[in-house]
Amino acid sequence: MNQFNEYNISEEIIKALDILEYKEATAVQKNVIPKLLEYKNLLVKSQTGSGKTAAFGIPIVEHLDWEERKAQALILVPTRELALQIQSEIFNIGRYKRIKVEAIFGRSSFESQERNLRQMVHVIVATPGRLIDHIGRDTIDLSAVQTLIIDEADEMLAMGFIDQVQKVVKSVKGLKNIALFSATLPDEIVKLSKEIMKNSEHIEVENENVIEKRIQQDVYYVEQKDKLALIEDIITVENPDTSILFCNTKAMVEKVADFLWDLGIDVETLHGDMEQRDRTRVIQDFKINKFRYLVASDVAARGLDIDDVDIVFNVDIPENTNSYIHRIGRTARVDKEGKAISFVDSFTKKYLDIILEESNNQIEVKKGPSKSLVDDRKESFKAKIKRKTKIRKEKGHDFNVDIMKIHINAGKKTKLRPVDVVGAICSIDGVEKSDIGVISIVDLSTFVEILNGKGNMVLKALQEQTIKGRLRKVSKANPSEYERSIS
Ligand code: AMP
Repeated sequence: MNQFNEYNISEEIIKALDILEYKEATAVQKNVIPKLLEYKNLLVKSQTGSGKTAAFGIPIVEHLDWEERKAQALILVPTRELALQIQSEIFNIGRYKRIKVEAIFGRSSFESQERNLRQMVHVIVATPGRLIDHIGRDTIDLSAVQTLIIDEADEMLAMGFIDQVQKVVKSVKGLKNIALFSATLPDEIVKLSKEIMKNSEHIEVENENVIEKRIQQDVYYVEQKDKLALIEDIITVENPDTSILFCNTKAMVEKVADFLWDLGIDVETLHGDMEQRDRTRVIQDFKINKFRYLVASDVAARGLDIDDVDIVFNVDIPENTNSYIHRIGRTARVDKEGKAISFVDSFTKKYLDIILEESNNQIEVKKGPSKSLVDDRKESFKAKIKRKTKIRKEKGHDFNVDIMKIHINAGKKTKLRPVDVVGAICSIDGVEKSDIGVISIVDLSTFVEILNGKGNMVLKALQEQTIKGRLRKVSKANPSEYERSIS
């Protein structure tokens, strides 16, 4: 029995949550879902990794009216990576409601975003800058937006986006509610929440804020020149399945990665100077466990949903508590345990002191492992890094097992509309509206997802069944064509 049944949410969502294997609501979900279902204004202090995306995603999907072709929810996020991640999570939650979720962010084609925004879109996930460009050029319609989510508000603040957030709030008329999520609540965020929301409820989930408690936090005093050798000793002894090593500069990222590479480790890097395409690929590959060690600057820390990282290293301790919390939050996701190891030297000890004071954290000071221990563990360490990793299924993978994408040789130019497609498919015996997934109509083609393993049946029936008065050429979609049509 899925515990989400207790909430007033539709069968389609429960079914999707079952496939995602969300059986029980997390603490933040228990608190937030009922309130957002009632369109309450909320200020929520919650960490990434707590399940907060589904906490706002589930009520958003529940409220969506599929027939309304305009966006009904807007989610503001600080980074492109987070936008893509939230897009995918909400899309998965809404899999059986056939919803369209668009991600809007900078350094990617404005025109293709504009084109997608002209089509049916139910939810928009956006970074503030690009969203304001669209608002300024009148290429986005926010007139039906009821719920606004501001996610990772403290990161928005750190990145200087608060003015832009305020601007967006002013330009969305007709909102029913706003919810602001933040891992920490500095004064500026509390002030912002008061400015933009009336009667907001403040939610701070007690035992969830102790995410750090599930993370064993160690600190090593080590001078810069000795860091690489210490990394080698620690990973040899700990022998993690996966690890992220955070550095403060791109140069250090490269240095650590080169060092690990020379040890025979399959390692990848992630930093802000990399092309977006490469960043997305690295994150994707790390998520499915294609390689074990990722060396990264802070771009990877913000809100990234990377599961099962055994050890997070702060090769360079970050200069503020927020970064520290975000970084170590990559381990011990949801209900797992993890380890965070930080290096400080005579110059950076002051940052550690501030972090300790501000976070109320338990950090244990450790000494590097002894030579005999390192020698003892060397063999099994080497064996593991030589072994191929076990590729994990991508989240949402199970949805695809019973989904077939079909292609109809007619589109906008032939004035085909979603209702025509739905009408034709639903007139097939044994097929219902709930068996139809995302419909994407482009100039000369239409792509339709058929759910619940009914693809072949629909494909066969549509060879003889007219769509909008005419027999059309209907075939199984070529995946790359389909991806192009929805991107
Ligand atoms: P978030 O805090 O939104 O980044 O979510 C952290 C991770 O928890 C993501 O991988 C989610 O897919 C997962 N998750 C969210 N809700 C649940 C749940 N109720 N049960 C299990 N996993 C969940």
